[in-house]
Amino acid sequence: MDKKAICLGELLIDFVSTVNGVSLKEAPAFEKAPGGAPANVAVGLSRLGIETFFVGKVGQDAFGEFLRDVLQSNQVNTRFLKMTDRAKTTLAFVSLTREGERDFVFYREPGADTLLDQQDIEEECFQGRGVFHFGSLTMTHEPAYSATLKALSLAKKHGYLISFDPNLRPALWKNLDTARDKIRQAMSRSDVVKVNEEEAMFVASCKDLQRAIEFIQFHCKPSLLAVTLGKEGCLLCQNGRQIRVPGFQVTSVDTTGAGDGFVAGLLSSLYMFWEELKQGHALPEEALLHAGRRANAVGALTTLKKGAIPALPTQDEVETFLEE
Ligand code: ADP
Repeated sequence: MDKKAICLGELLIDFVSTVNGVSLKEAPAFEKAPGGAPANVAVGLSRLGIETFFVGKVGQDAFGEFLRDVLQSNQVNTRFLKMTDRAKTTLAFVSLTREGERDFVFYREPGADTLLDQQDIEEECFQGRGVFHFGSLTMTHEPAYSATLKALSLAKKHGYLISFDPNLRPALWKNLDTARDKIRQAMSRSDVVKVNEEEAMFVASCKDLQRAIEFIQFHCKPSLLAVTLGKEGCLLCQNGRQIRVPGFQVTSVDTTGAGDGFVAGLLSSLYMFWEELKQGHALPEEALLHAGRRANAVGALTTLKKGAIPALPTQDEVETFLEE
């Protein structure tokens, strides 16, 4: 496998309240931060030494140019990032609790990221072999959903390892049963699936995490299922085995992007095993422990600064943190 990643999905601006612990209406001011879960993963992977491409769409406006520049300055290849004059770049307004948990509303009527269509997906992007990561908003909106399915097919055809994070935001779905169906289908087509506890239980329609994990493993059969547990760390589940990897104690200011940082940390640390994962082979326990610890470290480090992209650590920062 090439040390290459393609991330597909939303790329938007987060306007984050400058003060934690106030509602959106009470926020005194907002700071502009680049965002979008797959874009965060792209920057995370790039900072961890993987050659990364981003596939998505922004408006031909100042925000779109800003986002493209941010990706480029993080060495993410934007050759397959489209700019359109048919819609504006999507904006999100975000408030944070004192503990750094977020609440948000979108300005998207429709946003350019949802207009990614099948013609925007170029087979050339899938030359070589590596990991293809997707999820999030492109599941909820057309034509972005059809474009995502096309990209998924091309990634499969070219032998990519498929990684999926649903990033469930119930408010974005008109019908939660449709959300559940689409997420299950996407999981069934993926090798690596990352969910948090809430998403696992939603997908399995049950309130017990262990039963939810069993459900996903039995029905969707990902090669590796990673369940993140916030500051408690994560569970890595493979072939009926379950490894619990404790999280790190840090003073978090903003948990935005922690899950995306985690995905980047997990995928990059498992680089040597991408082929095995694709073939559904069980990985050695030490490899899973090592990857889970690094993924937790990247997740924890991502909570130390406001916003996701500004906070995602480099390889050197992760090494230093793990040595402390
Ligand atoms: P998501 O953002 O997808 O809901 P989590 O909140 O579970 O995911 O966070 C992903 C990972 O980031 C966790 O598994 C953990 O390793 C790390 N993390 C998240 N929040 C914290 C925190 N407050 N302190 C330390 N690590 C954290």
